[in-house]
Amino acid sequence: MVPAIHRPAQINVDLDAIKTNVKNEIKRLDNNQQLWAVVKANAYGHGAIPVAHAALEAGATGFCVATLDEGLQLREYGLPKPILVLGIVPTQWAPLAAQKNISLTVGSLEWLKKADKILTETGQTLKIHLGIDSGMGRIGFSEDDEFKAANVFLQDNPHFEVEGMFTHFSKADSADTSYLDYQVDRFNHMKDLLTVKPKYIHMANSAAAVFDRKIKTDIVRYGVAMYGLNPSSVPNGKDLESHVDLKPALSFTSELTFVKKIHSGYGVSYGATFVADKDQWIGTVPVGYADGWQRKMQGFKVKVGEDYCPIVGRVCMDQFMVLLPKEVPVGTKVELISADPKAPNNIKAVADQVDTIHYEIACLLSDRLPRVYQ
Ligand code: PLP
Repeated sequence: MVPAIHRPAQINVDLDAIKTNVKNEIKRLDNNQQLWAVVKANAYGHGAIPVAHAALEAGATGFCVATLDEGLQLREYGLPKPILVLGIVPTQWAPLAAQKNISLTVGSLEWLKKADKILTETGQTLKIHLGIDSGMGRIGFSEDDEFKAANVFLQDNPHFEVEGMFTHFSKADSADTSYLDYQVDRFNHMKDLLTVKPKYIHMANSAAAVFDRKIKTDIVRYGVAMYGLNPSSVPNGKDLESHVDLKPALSFTSELTFVKKIHSGYGVSYGATFVADKDQWIGTVPVGYADGWQRKMQGFKVKVGEDYCPIVGRVCMDQFMVLLPKEVPVGTKVELISADPKAPNNIKAVADQVDTIHYEIACLLSDRLPRVYQ
């Protein structure tokens, strides 16, 4: 989608907040530990390139992305440092990754064998991280025999440089750490089977980092907490408290583009689910579900000027309406998402409204919304 730069609606990203979050976490690491910034999914909707530069300036020493394309974008914009693709990339693209010095995750012997054939033809060496499925049930080696065979295959193989070995936690944000402990044990068991020597062993995500799970490996893959958001995100529930001060970076603002008085019996939006019972003031905000502002936001209160006003009627594809306490001018500022975690329209409240987690809210904010950096 084309960014709508001629419409008053934007995502504001405070890069200083991102730098502060990165610096605060780095201060807590041991000297030999590194922070790699997770900038996948357009940096969780915040904008990959500006966020990557900010993280680099604050001391991040590598990047994690989900797809090869996201890694290529970082290289295109001149970002140095290691880049790790966390997902599985089809082997046909191994030469491209090797050419751009982008490291790929490997989770099976079959993948290694296929990629080896291709890299033998091109004569390249690919950097890889061995992904271990220690209990996430998603990707990675989970069987001892296959992992041992992969190690044998990699021994003195000129087409692969084993840069890392890692796993991903599924419950590092839970108060009960038994499953986390189980995953750590499984990972350590697989680590004992290594015969190749990866440069980096890594496990921690934001949750393991900010809830002090005592995971002292070489790299923290720092994602959601870098954006100032608590990794414990329980829809309509109570989150665990972060041990680090997190400063949210994102806010979402717009303006009223239309204001009118409606009379008793007058309906608002598709299906006329709101009908005025007296003379009422209605404002229109030029944002809709095509921007990632979902239909389920109906009823949520956004800040219009200094008042929190409920969304009335259905959210349309490109616009929604609010019930105003009084007449206010067209152009009045509307804050849909506040960066202040104490504000009633903070991102967690938005996520609660649609019964999801704030990760999803940030990622779904569409490309039509320009990102503005402070
Ligand atoms: N590592 C892996 C493998 C991931 O998939 C993710 C995110 O999904 C992260 C790290 C970062 O997680 P978080 O944003 O919770 O820090």
